[in-house]
Amino acid sequence: MKISNRVATINGENVTDDGWSVLYKARDMIDAGVQITNLSIGDHDTDTPAFILDEMDRAARAGNTRYAPIPGTDALRQAIADRVARTTDTPTTVENVFVTTGGQGALFAAMMAATDPGQKVVLIDPHYTTYPATVRAASCQIEIVKADPNNGFQPDAETLAQACKGASALLINTPNNPTGAVYSPDTLNHIREACVQNDLWLLSDEVYETQSHGPKIISPRALPDMAERTLALGSLSKSHIMTGFRLGWVVGPKDAITALTHLTNATTYGVAGFIQDAALKALTDGDSTERDTAALYTRRRNRALEALKGSNAVKISPPDGAMYVMLDIRSTGLSGRDFAHKLLEAHKIATMPGESFGQAAAGHIRIALTVDDDTLARALQTIAAYAQTLEDKT
Ligand code: PLP
Repeated sequence: MKISNRVATINGENVTDDGWSVLYKARDMIDAGVQITNLSIGDHDTDTPAFILDEMDRAARAGNTRYAPIPGTDALRQAIADRVARTTDTPTTVENVFVTTGGQGALFAAMMAATDPGQKVVLIDPHYTTYPATVRAASCQIEIVKADPNNGFQPDAETLAQACKGASALLINTPNNPTGAVYSPDTLNHIREACVQNDLWLLSDEVYETQSHGPKIISPRALPDMAERTLALGSLSKSHIMTGFRLGWVVGPKDAITALTHLTNATTYGVAGFIQDAALKALTDGDSTERDTAALYTRRRNRALEALKGSNAVKISPPDGAMYVMLDIRSTGLSGRDFAHKLLEAHKIATMPGESFGQAAAGHIRIALTVDDDTLARALQTIAAYAQTLEDKT
């Protein structure tokens, strides 16, 4: 039987690599007993705090294992609304919040609610790996705006304005995965203008909203006239070390939230109640978890800059936020994908090819700061030395 064209081409026409091929190969090697330094996927090397696990266990044992309310429990929605109102200084109530299966569930739901088949969605490249497939899942067309590394990976205002003509939605991500860019007030004003002038939905992916290495993180939903056209996407994956809990949310206008309830009737039917209780606990008592997690990645980001100081073959663009660094390895003459595969073979270090995040990151690799500080420093020195040997050969 034939698989639908929508799903068969969800990664693009004739594309077999979904962007994660290095990770898949590394996992096979790990299964075969090879020791790998895994700097590929953005998952923590620290454990989910015990107080969150205890609450999940308590809630499940207390019987919260049956169907939960589809938009989320009132208590969790209220806690998310309070948090968003406080951190963005924008009025937000329970009716503006929908609980989803992780940030990816929020992305999918928001994309489905904001678009009709055939419409154009603007993505800023480099972008998170799953964005193109999420647009294709909604049967929409992708329009790419490349963000220049020489401009700190901030999108250019004029290019963005042109691309947004005739589109129905713009998807942005600040702090950005993979680049670590935190969008400046100027960039956000250009984004706002493009959305208002072209009557676009803004899908604002804010899953790294707690992880700044310095600059203030601004939610575009807080800008004038934007709350009515923004679907802001959040998650506890990165902030509270809860990647496997699959707990995220969409914040948006009330009628969009109602529509998401109808959509979710046909998809996940909501998030497990004991997971929602654990999430409520994380939001209520997790301030220090959030702070410590953010501080850990800032420390490792600084350690990475230090480890690569003086390398000629590898250039690092200092990230302003999130939990990654991008390395420019173009001096080796290799694509990011070829370099990442060779590095895995030669030194058992797994990274993400820049091309997994679009073409603007070609010739780069992304390092997740998810191993202890010394292992990270050693791995980066190995990468720099390996790049140097390749450069010497070109
Ligand atoms: N958005 C971005 C930018 C991400 O980096 C990720 C995960 O890495 C997600 C969304 C998905 O988040 P979650 O793991 O909560 O589904």
